[in-house]
Amino acid sequence: MQDVPPICRSEFLRSLAGASGRAQEEGSHLGLLLIDITNLAQINHYHGYQTGDLVLKSTYDQLLSISKLPDSIYRMGDHRFAFILPELGNPAFIALAINKVSRVLEQALYVDSHLVSADVKVGVAVNREGKHDELSMLALAELSLALVKRGGGHRMQDFLGEQKDSDVTDHQLEQRFAQALQDNEFELYFQPKVNLRSGHVGSAEALLRWLPENSDPVSPEVVVGLADDAGKAYELTKWVVHSALRQAKPWCQGPDGGIALNLQASLVSNPDLPVLIKDALVIWGVEAERLTIEITESAIIEDKESGFNNLLKLKEMGINLSIDDFGTGYSSLSYFKHIPAAELKIDRSFVAKMLEDPQDLELVKIMITIAHQFSLKVVAEGVEDLETLRALMILDCDYAQGYYFSRPLPRQEFEAWVEQWPGLPEL
Ligand code: C2E
Ligand code: CA
Ligand code: CA
Repeated sequence: MQDVPPICRSEFLRSLAGASGRAQEEGSHLGLLLIDITNLAQINHYHGYQTGDLVLKSTYDQLLSISKLPDSIYRMGDHRFAFILPELGNPAFIALAINKVSRVLEQALYVDSHLVSADVKVGVAVNREGKHDELSMLALAELSLALVKRGGGHRMQDFLGEQKDSDVTDHQLEQRFAQALQDNEFELYFQPKVNLRSGHVGSAEALLRWLPENSDPVSPEVVVGLADDAGKAYELTKWVVHSALRQAKPWCQGPDGGIALNLQASLVSNPDLPVLIKDALVIWGVEAERLTIEITESAIIEDKESGFNNLLKLKEMGINLSIDDFGTGYSSLSYFKHIPAAELKIDRSFVAKMLEDPQDLELVKIMITIAHQFSLKVVAEGVEDLETLRALMILDCDYAQGYYFSRPLPRQEFEAWVEQWPGLPEL
């Protein structure tokens, strides 16, 4: 058995109260990170509790080695840790701490010859000049963690200890979202998917865009999180499916033509999903074989029973399933046997560094080999330069997407881009 750090909330609160008191006396800045290993349940499920325990122990040890201060690291829940950072020279320095913690903790561990990696989300609060008490600081960090888990990143306010305002902004955003859905303010952009064997571009991935009037674009991950929270995930998906099929119909009739859509976890097991998609295919006259649905590994695992049933139904209809962001979640091999997928997309974090980091290159090679063994096509995402493209072609990767070819574009621009596409470079 591994020696798992015990959960000690009261010690943590005492320590945070002590640090807050000192910050108040000295007028110094105090930081707090809440670190959540969001995939611990999956690790336990796929690799056993011993492996899960090992991940917890290693997380704790790594946090201790980052902090180097006594009374600063506590396990606060099954898969949650707290990291107290006293005497921050500048509140914004906490951004560096978040970066370091995520980088260190997300390094994969080898356990009994499988690779296990923790999916880490970090919530943050800064107590500027000791102005908050420990409980409100904890509440701010919890709020920040909830926002991050929902797909939003850290915002500058988080680092500067002004989360109270951002809470309001978030509420406003939710209201604007509901209105935007009603007013049809969303758009789909299309990113070409290049066939590395034929050099042909027949298909594209549709990516959601919300460009609210008079304010900054909102990232699709945040939009999807807002839809989930507002109970509007089904409505948003319906809009995406119809809008994508309507726009992609012309190129879905061409050779190698197709359209790929993203589907979030909350929709995978929705019993109405197969009918929604079937109706949309009929309405827009697109053959099921032309449609690919991209789902992340963790979304598939989240709700196994009903999720699998739905996926099987989609497959029986002739739709292709693609495992998105592959490598970032639970890459247990046994899982290919169960998932009726046709395609695997290597997460762009591996592709981006494959020429610099030999370990990433090795992982990309392994993913391509395994996928082919299971008769899956492989797509590399996030190809940004010619050298990476060449390496992927040599490794026998089937498709590629990325800024090297094109950013996601509105439909007309996408079609114009395809018209002028000169074909792949010589190897
Ligand atoms: P994803 O499915 O992994 O989509 C790929 C993301 O990588 C896109 O970000 C795309 O713009 C970006 N990307 C493409 N090529 C490159 C590259 O060469 N370098 C870099 N750095 N990035 C590249 P985007 O559009 O912001 O979408 C983010 C995520 O939001 C998507 O990740 C997907 O999970 C989600 N999403 C987007 N549209 C939808 C949607 O309609 N429904 C659902 N459920 N999720 C969506
Ligand atoms: Ca995708
Ligand atoms: Ca992806």
